[in-house]
Amino acid sequence: MSAAVTTPEYPLFDTHCHFDFDAFAAQFADELALACQQGVQRILIPSIGRQNWQRVATLAADYPDHIYYALGYHPYFLASAGLNPLDDLEQALDARSSACVAVGEVGLDAMVDIDAKVQETLLLGQLALAQAAGLPVVLHSRKTHNRLLQLLKQTRFQGGGVLHAFSGSEQQARQFIDLGFKIGVGGGITYPRANKTRRTISALPLEHLVLETDAPDMPLCGYQGHNNHPCRLPLVLNELVLLRKEDKQTVASTVWKNSNLLFSICERIPTEM
Ligand SMILES: [Zn+2]
Repeated sequence: MSAAVTTPEYPLFDTHCHFDFDAFAAQFADELALACQQGVQRILIPSIGRQNWQRVATLAADYPDHIYYALGYHPYFLASAGLNPLDDLEQALDARSSACVAVGEVGLDAMVDIDAKVQETLLLGQLALAQAAGLPVVLHSRKTHNRLLQLLKQTRFQGGGVLHAFSGSEQQARQFIDLGFKIGVGGGITYPRANKTRRTISALPLEHLVLETDAPDMPLCGYQGHNNHPCRLPLVLNELVLLRKEDKQTVASTVWKNSNLLFSICERIPTEM
């Protein structure tokens, strides 16, 4: 199935969208068409745990031109991870399709009520599985950037990936970049009060940035109280263009290229029959 109706001016890649969540389930084909109409041709859906691995794989199989997925355990949902989480993930990765282009969403979160040691043990196991599968990781980090950097260095993780919804200092961002990670730029930059992150994003090399919405979370400035949607990704692009003072075509084509490179996907959009 293909939901595209027009060839967009700038193809965009939403590198982090929980498009399988209930908010989009009732009218999924229409929601995807809405995103495609705004140029959002490709979407990576990260999983949160065993409970949605099948669902994200099925969406990718149903919409192969548009949907890619990642398998992993999100730090928020570790309570439902089961008794042998790493064995389960290894099995799921062994059975993955070519649309599974990363391990994620994995990481650390200092704001959630789950023991840090438990989070770290599962993260390390997932990094090892990603390394073995030759896949990059989609990283979640809340108030844990420095610890995450420490662990990535200790384990000598080589697979790279993306630090999603980045907010933080330029120094932290550059350390992740040095370890082979892209920086996920989301709706956070549309808030004038997000000074530090906006400054950081404008200073980093464009070659290391990718776009994301994190929908249905992270509403853009002006849309607070509403579910976020991948169709708003062009607004994140516009803000990035304003911040960087580079021309839109350059920014759009570079982040498109970065995103496909990150997930080892062919950049070219196949012409539709
Ligand atoms: Zn997420």
